Amino acid sequence: MNARARKVAIIGGGIMGSAAAYYLRRLGIEAVVLERGAFGTEQSSRALGFIRCQGRHHAEIGLAVHANRMWPGLAGELQADLEYVREGNLVVAETAADEDRLRRSSAAARAAGLSTRVVSRAEIAHISPRLAGPWRSGIFTAEDGHASPVKATHAFAAAAQRLGAEFRPDTPARAIEIADGRVAGVRTASGLVAADAVLCAAGVSTNFLLRPLGLALPIQIVRSSNLESEPVPPFTRIGVWSPHIAMRPRLDGTFSFGTGYRGLRPDHDLGAVSLNHLGWFLPRFLANPRRPRLRLNRDTLDNLGRALAARAAMRPMPEPIVNEDMIAERLRWAGALFPHVGGFRRARAWAGRIDATPDLIPIIGPFEKLKGLFVAGGFCAHGLALAPIVGRTLAELMARGTSEIDLRAFRPERFRGPVLDEDPTAL
Ligand SMILES: Cc1cc2nc3c(=O)[nH]c(=O)nc-3n(C[C@H](O)[C@H](O)[C@H](O)COP(=O)(O)OP(=O)(O)OC[C@H]3O[C@@H](n4cnc5c(N)ncnc54)[C@H](O)[C@@H]3O)c2cc1C
Repeated sequence: MNARARKVAIIGGGIMGSAAAYYLRRLGIEAVVLERGAFGTEQSSRALGFIRCQGRHHAEIGLAVHANRMWPGLAGELQADLEYVREGNLVVAETAADEDRLRRSSAAARAAGLSTRVVSRAEIAHISPRLAGPWRSGIFTAEDGHASPVKATHAFAAAAQRLGAEFRPDTPARAIEIADGRVAGVRTASGLVAADAVLCAAGVSTNFLLRPLGLALPIQIVRSSNLESEPVPPFTRIGVWSPHIAMRPRLDGTFSFGTGYRGLRPDHDLGAVSLNHLGWFLPRFLANPRRPRLRLNRDTLDNLGRALAARAAMRPMPEPIVNEDMIAERLRWAGALFPHVGGFRRARAWAGRIDATPDLIPIIGPFEKLKGLFVAGGFCAHGLALAPIVGRTLAELMARGTSEIDLRAFRPERFRGPVLDEDPTAL
């Protein structure tokens, strides 16, 4: 059991750091959030917005179910509109292989207590009448939904501040300080922020802080490019996942489009950190037909600069490059999905860096080797949905030394031995 913390320094003002600060304050624990740039400008403002349990890795599904139970109450609790819609998530199958995968995914979801069911072509037409395509069948989970990542992140941050958490923007954490074999706080340009626990929730930059302590984690970065359409007269509130494209309808008639479940190969910007934990990543990379495309570009230079100078690593990351080919492809698939629109028009495109782990489940919890140090990272593009339960559980662990939810499957030390592999039923 970890000693109980009275003050926690949190590195990273994304949704994880903000949610942890909120739940810490609810338990009466002091919380200081250090953010190197502006709050919520990295992954947390770039997510598509799916709040789903369906199709999760079997090790993660329980956590996702707990999070899903919290989402309906969050708008009231945080006193903010989150654009949360819970009208189900539909996944459609094009081929016999897709069908087989979805059926197995549905069985896994039902075993975890979800209402996921296989739906016929006729039922698909009933659930999403405007949806076109050669869909053989699909699966539908009524309790899944979607929300605004930006609004959810800001709502947690604002609620935490109302409860007395201190949020410091433009304050990079330079180092995690150790004294007498346990954490003593976080070093910043303006001095030490003393704390008896530190939560590293630094997203894709987690290892810049953990490596000097000999605690680097196997996290690699992939880049995904997404698209928001101009508004059309609203015709659905249900998120759809096809093999080629994922779609989230917004209440104002705009749509967000991202990667479908068969995947479009994401980008990986080469840099010194590409060599991070190759023993874990290289075999999986080579065996993966949807492996990331390796890119040499301005991010490579930025990345090398960060590797060479510790101070450079503390700067906010540059805006990620949008892959225009990917965006063009998304626009084509979007039009094919809803032909009655007569072609969606691009309002904006954006890219986001995703922190991925070898087993495609996140890294959450305390370090056994260093008392008082906790991490929340490697969310593999699932962190928006999980944030409430991760924030609450980490706050319990830091405040009380125990938590209602068991996080052992996500422990940072799991990479010392063989880890779970990709779950073929996960989408
Ligand atoms: C394109 C895309 C689509 C996604 N779609 C979904 C989805 O549909 N559903 C879902 O559940 N999830 C989705 N995700 C994943 C989700 O966005 C992330 O898992 C989640 O936002 C992670 O939150 P975070 O707080 O851990 O990280 P971040 O939001 O990246 O926050 C980390 C913060 O740490 C700060 N930081 C780093 N180093 C330092 C330092 N030294 N000092 C101070 N601050 C520092 C950074 O500036 C950053 O603000 C998606 C992600 C992307 C990129």
